[in-house]
Amino acid sequence: MNLPADDATLAEALESANLPALLPAIVQLTGDASLLQRFPAPSPGMMGAVDGNFSPEDQAAIRALAFEVLKTYRDGDANLPPLPSKEQLHEMMNWCAGEALPPEYVPLAIEEAALEEPDPRRFEWEQRPDPAVLRDFHVVIIGAGFGGVCAAVRLEQAGIAYTICEKNDSVGGTWYENSYPDLRVDVPNHFYSYSFEPNPDWSNYFSRRDELEAYIGACARKHGILERVRLGTEVVEATYDEPSAQWRVRIRGEDGSEEVLTANAVISAVGMLNRPQFPSIDGVDSFEGPCFHSSRWQHDVEFEGKRVGVIGTGASAMQFVPRLAENVSKLTVFQRAAHWATFNASYRATISDEFKWLLRHVPYYHGWYRFLLFWAGSDRVFPVFRIDPDWEHPDRSIGMANDMFRTAAITYIKAQLANDPELIDKCIPDYPPLGKRPLLDNGWYKTLTRDNVELVTDGIREVTPDAVITADGTKHPLDVLVLATGFHAGKFLWPMQIIGRGGVVLQDRWEGGENPRAYLGITMPDFPNLFCMYGPNTNPVVGSVIFMLECQTNYIMGCLRALIENGHRSLECREGVHDEYNERLDAEMEKMVWRHPNVRSYYNNSAGRVITNVPWTMYAYWNMTRTPDLAEFHVR
Ligand SMILES: Cc1cc2nc3c(=O)[nH]c(=O)nc-3n(C[C@H](O)[C@H](O)[C@H](O)COP(=O)(O)OP(=O)(O)OC[C@H]3O[C@@H](n4cnc5c(N)ncnc54)[C@H](O)[C@@H]3O)c2cc1C
Repeated sequence: MNLPADDATLAEALESANLPALLPAIVQLTGDASLLQRFPAPSPGMMGAVDGNFSPEDQAAIRALAFEVLKTYRDGDANLPPLPSKEQLHEMMNWCAGEALPPEYVPLAIEEAALEEPDPRRFEWEQRPDPAVLRDFHVVIIGAGFGGVCAAVRLEQAGIAYTICEKNDSVGGTWYENSYPDLRVDVPNHFYSYSFEPNPDWSNYFSRRDELEAYIGACARKHGILERVRLGTEVVEATYDEPSAQWRVRIRGEDGSEEVLTANAVISAVGMLNRPQFPSIDGVDSFEGPCFHSSRWQHDVEFEGKRVGVIGTGASAMQFVPRLAENVSKLTVFQRAAHWATFNASYRATISDEFKWLLRHVPYYHGWYRFLLFWAGSDRVFPVFRIDPDWEHPDRSIGMANDMFRTAAITYIKAQLANDPELIDKCIPDYPPLGKRPLLDNGWYKTLTRDNVELVTDGIREVTPDAVITADGTKHPLDVLVLATGFHAGKFLWPMQIIGRGGVVLQDRWEGGENPRAYLGITMPDFPNLFCMYGPNTNPVVGSVIFMLECQTNYIMGCLRALIENGHRSLECREGVHDEYNERLDAEMEKMVWRHPNVRSYYNNSAGRVITNVPWTMYAYWNMTRTPDLAEFHVR
């Protein structure tokens, strides 16, 4: 039996199916593309919708068709039909998405959603490498979050030796370090996961941090990576030795002892949101009660009945404030800038066992579901981030779609705040939607209407041993203070000291770390065989960071393949290539919402240049990182 289900179980499971994903899976299972003609396409952009806006009759008909096909599959032999042609796949994608995709998306979607084979991005050698060269090649990866583990998976496949240095006591990065209440991912999990490790068992569409941490750990274990991780090991310095074309990587253990590792290549996977930013407010160190950063949550602190202050209202506060408010006697939230937060019906929803069953057992279904999330949640919405130069209300928004988003968000905020004019005034941002990371409402607005919650928008003058004093002189007495003040997002490869060819210090090259630039966010002139993941200008504000990390891994592995197969010692990005890329990037950035004059965020450096975000579509970045062009490097 190819499917472990009797008729009743199968029928019940199909009741929960995402129909826009189910029909293409059935088409692929039967090889019969004409099935698509029987039904109208679903509405476009319906990433969370199970029914795809089909009429009740069409819903029933799709389920009945799937039931018959799956019964036959269950009871027959396991031979699947040949893979559809690229043209057929394109047609299926268009139907699934409810709109025509540009044809160049077909190979990308096949890869990202693993529609044809389980791991199309698997590393393969093009020529058999010289065993002696391969044996002597060693890579140091810095960091064991999603990025470092991704790179390690591919190095394992290539048989290239590597060591991961991880400063924490465990793998997981963001999802290990942060443990504040109600932390969950805000990108749908079946997309925010490795393309090569589908997980049909996510409990939620947006799962909690424990599951993400466990997922990274399980992936690392499955691929044999854990044995290669040196935990409690911080990289403090890396110096390029030109005569040997090797990096000397200085590491420090938790006991302060130091050691130097030698590597032919270094992959920095240190993350963008890893080093907590503490506010420089007068007196903050004098606070006598518990006081901690949200990324260093102190789980032994008793909140019940306490007066608690939270400084900051970004993505972390949005998640934990509603939970915190339930127990404390008084919660005072200090806001510097309001954020746009919208409603998503699936945000806190759990996934039914039936839905998980379909993802696990129905061939191709997981892939089509991922495709749907990928398309609807990335490049499809990219135009909303672009400034329309002819838009007539540039004071409040950047174009028609952005303005419609704004109107809908304001209507939502007003309803949530029970039309309280003072709160509404404080909660509607003065910058266009999407100017900062768009947030999903975790009950934030409703929480602000509670009797025990106060939203303070006056600037903070100082912190005293038992209070926060705002600019107007008001004293806000507190027992506990939580600093939800974000991370040093703009400080890349920091606080490490990276010294390249000719003694060039990376932070100096980047103007005291203020102006980081890299080609594709990955590689820099004068730093041969050093590769960054989640480096400068690679933060996707729509889409998934993991998508970007996989693109970067692919590119880096292409570079390592070229080095090893050809017996080269080093690859160093040409200055002209690097500079031209960054000029193009800066020009493109001018067209993005983050350049709106009202947006002040961690995306910009002190000169106003956007240094964190990527201005390209996912497709464009994928295309640029598919295969390294050796002509863009000094090859030695
Ligand atoms: C609270 C929070 C919530 C988030 N939520 C989302 C979300 O919902 N959706 C989304 O797309 N993204 C989210 N992000 C962004 C998230 O960081 C990325 O999605 C992703 O996890 C990045 O993986 P990474 O491996 O690049 O970096 P990280 O996960 O930050 O891992 C970097 C690793 O490098 C290690 N490291 C750093 N410096 C050194 C050193 N010198 N030596 C040794 N080890 C070092 C760190 O200890 C860490 O383990 C969130 C980030 C935070 C902080």
